[in-house]
Amino acid sequence: MNNVFLRRLIILIVVLIVAFLGGREFWEIRHFKQSIVVSEDFTKKVMLSDYFEGIKGTWVDTPVYIYDSGNPGGSLLWLGGTHPYEPGAILPAYVAAENLKITKGKIFLIPVANRSAWTMGDYGMGYPKYFSLEANWGEKKFRIGARNSNQLDQWPDPFTYVHYPSRQNLAYQDIRNLNRTYPGYASGTLTERLAYAIMELTRQEDIDLFVDMHEASLMYPVVSTYVAHQDAEDIAMMAGMNLSAEQFPMKSESSPKSLRGLSHREVGDYSDALVVLMETAEPFIDRVAGKMTEELMIEGKDEFLQKAAEENLLYCDPEYDIEFGKPMWYRVGRHLSGTMEVIKQMGEFYPDKQMEVEFPLFFDLEEHGIMHFLHDPETADTDRLFYQ
Ligand SMILES: [Zn+2]
Repeated sequence: MNNVFLRRLIILIVVLIVAFLGGREFWEIRHFKQSIVVSEDFTKKVMLSDYFEGIKGTWVDTPVYIYDSGNPGGSLLWLGGTHPYEPGAILPAYVAAENLKITKGKIFLIPVANRSAWTMGDYGMGYPKYFSLEANWGEKKFRIGARNSNQLDQWPDPFTYVHYPSRQNLAYQDIRNLNRTYPGYASGTLTERLAYAIMELTRQEDIDLFVDMHEASLMYPVVSTYVAHQDAEDIAMMAGMNLSAEQFPMKSESSPKSLRGLSHREVGDYSDALVVLMETAEPFIDRVAGKMTEELMIEGKDEFLQKAAEENLLYCDPEYDIEFGKPMWYRVGRHLSGTMEVIKQMGEFYPDKQMEVEFPLFFDLEEHGIMHFLHDPETADTDRLFYQ
């Protein structure tokens, strides 16, 4: 064996080892499963594809947890994880799933609305793959996903994304963005079909209230805000006033009519539901923030954001303060109370759509933290344990 051959063989082996290690990591991210121990008021789990066959067997098909009181009242479709790089908008769904009590009305809960986007990370951003929270029974790991559907599932992107049916031209990558593809298209791309499936659930189940949870960068003006379709403007405005008086500052604004593809525009236009989107502050998306660490995701303390706050560049309300940061419990608590308040207001404005529900709220999370409300899968009753 000559030297050249030996050198090439060694290089080939090293490349294969590196490719194997990298590939294994991607495989693990793609196949990671999150445990959910549903509350006693849980009725049944279905798949989103039960409402639209066109996504069956694809990576966007996602579990829908149904909590039916059996008593007539309002119905809520509650979405987490439209953008899975916003975990503060997924954890509230887990907390609700594990603690929901319902005596009037019906809830359809989708913790991860775009599962395809949850199976990858936002490349080039230096985000950690996971973050962990400590419970008295041990540690629980949560995924940080991407904003848009995985390109393994939908490829290639067009040069310009033409929104259906408005024909408005949008940025090319938004063809994989669930919150730019409503009201969906039954024979369109995978993400358009996902949006269509969510619309079908909304229409087939006569959903009264549609809540879409998000996190936003602190430099984005629409942060700490309800964005409501015009039909839901009154309930969002009243809810914002009550929250601001009693719990935390919450703005409300109405959905612009010329901005297409968003839930608060299209779902309201193409169904009878009252539609509200909520944004809380995630100090992870702003490009000025420092090192992207688990700690930053959980605590939200960053000196560069503090500097930006001092320069009046941030829009979050209350103002950014590095002593407090923007901790995960705070962001999750805002979404839980934000949802509860619109449920209440819907009942005030439309008595036939009243719901009686209970789940942990902002002050409960402030007092006990998030993990107090999530249960140990090891000791859970197997009838109530799901992995998704
Ligand atoms: Zn979002």
